[in-house]
Amino acid sequence: MGCMIGNQKTIDELSKRYPHIDLFMKVEQADILPHFLEERWTPISGAGCLDIEYMPNEGNDEEITVEPFLPTFATSTITSGKRTVLPMAITPKPGERIAHYPSKIEPAKASPTAWLPVILGCNKVCTYCIVPYRRGRERSRPVDELVTEANSLVARGAKELTLLGQTVEAYGLDLPGQPDLAHLMSQLSEIDGLERIRFMTSYPRHMTDSMIERMANLPKVCEHLNIPVQAGDDELLRRMKRGYTLDEYREKIRRVRELWPGITLSTDVIVGFCGETEQEFQHTLDLLKEIRFDVVHVAAYSVRPGTVAARWEDDIPLPEKKHRLHAVEELQATIALEINQQYLGKVEEVLVEEENSSHGRQQWKGRNRANKLVFFPQPDEGSCIQAGDLVKVQIERTTAWSLQGCTVAV
Ligand code: SF4
Repeated sequence: MGCMIGNQKTIDELSKRYPHIDLFMKVEQADILPHFLEERWTPISGAGCLDIEYMPNEGNDEEITVEPFLPTFATSTITSGKRTVLPMAITPKPGERIAHYPSKIEPAKASPTAWLPVILGCNKVCTYCIVPYRRGRERSRPVDELVTEANSLVARGAKELTLLGQTVEAYGLDLPGQPDLAHLMSQLSEIDGLERIRFMTSYPRHMTDSMIERMANLPKVCEHLNIPVQAGDDELLRRMKRGYTLDEYREKIRRVRELWPGITLSTDVIVGFCGETEQEFQHTLDLLKEIRFDVVHVAAYSVRPGTVAARWEDDIPLPEKKHRLHAVEELQATIALEINQQYLGKVEEVLVEEENSSHGRQQWKGRNRANKLVFFPQPDEGSCIQAGDLVKVQIERTTAWSLQGCTVAV
């Protein structure tokens, strides 16, 4: 399941390469899996084994024909060995809503932090990205469906929900009445027991001042924004077809910082994109120094077959890509350390996620509202901490990647 799953031709090719895989499906087709299992396969022992309907002798390369009695699925006609049943691409007609996620399958227990996909697909056409071809156009899930799912996750133990979308601020543009992301957050904020709301990934042009102000005024919405820039040079952004200029990006960051005091920022950067000159790369480093993100996720460009950029020469040698990647990491480590040192002595609210043992020490791991990783030891006496607790931690040490301290209130 994932972005590699495309049309029937792609599925047939994948089927040849990975004959041991029984089912290929797109992410948004997750809801077909229970029906598929119910209707096409029956458990042998009730212990998780599946009955394979067709198992020819080894070496038998005969053509397999099966009556297509379920229109949702197509059957490979070229696979030898056990039969591989493949789903056809599901494309919603205009005005038609497809179910996105299984409604009957719910986890018995959610972790303290849970994902809530709110919008699927992407309408942008970044030249390096396969997502729009694989996941289709942007499709928002209705507010009431999301509130129901959020209630269910919170009832099972979730304290923090991260609202997910490739361009999450596009949420609602395709729904009747166009409820936006801030509206959805205000509805989710009503849920008792839900302590925090996060969201990702942001796309600069969809984020309006009104949206930022309303999100900033919702106490449960955490002050952290993941807003990929990808490159610090206008010509590179044009080749990537990101849909904004550097000045537009800078202006968005300026407005966010003005309207949402205390917000922390993370971004994504690609180095070594087709034709990236030394000077263009230097402009990316300059931008990182100028904006001073809290976190930078950096990746060396790699070709995604089927994209526009795949037709261009991938002309930056791998050693040079690695060199640029390390240059970004090194610069960002210095910036992040300086930013994190500002937390020394402060008391941070931390949502405890799990126990962690590293360097021979048993400790707890969680995050503050600004999405910084925080580590702290079990308090000496009495208080029993568990995952999902909100605790106050006084910060005593910092690195570029985390904060460490001791609990002052549980
Ligand atoms: S990089 Fe992001 S915004 Fe661009 S096409 Fe891919 S998913 Fe969409």
